[in-house]
Order: sequence, then C-alpha cells, then structure tokens
Amino acid sequence: MAQCPVCGKSIDEAAARATTGQTAFGAAEVDPAKGTRQFHDGKWYYFDTLECRSKFMAQHGQKK
Ligand SMILES: [Zn+2]
Repeated sequence: MAQCPVCGKSIDEAAARATTGQTAFGAAEVDPAKGTRQFHDGKWYYFDTLECRSKFMAQHGQKK
C-alpha cells in the first residue's frame, strides 16, 4: 500500500495505476476517488486526490 506524501492517507496502488497512464511526467488524471500518481525525481508518487497531488507538485516545483 502506498501512502499519500501530502496527507498520509493510504492509497491502493493498483487502482491508481489502473486509472492513470504509464507515461513519466504525463500521468492522466482520471478518477480522483481512486487515487492518482505522479512520476517525480525518478520514482512514482501516489496521491489519494488530485488536490494532494497539486499541493505536492507545487512544493516540489515540477512544471511538466
Ligand atoms: Zn493526500
């Protein structure tokens, strides 16, 4: 189980993978209820919501 780095909530990695694309830096944002993910700094980060993902990306400054 992955954890959201922003709020610490657990995420179902399989569901997040199933609902997002495989492309680094360009993960599709499909269903926030099932989690999402972002490739950053050489690894995938998993988030429970797009809001958390946005906060994380704002803090870590990736603009792609
Ligand atoms: Zn979160």
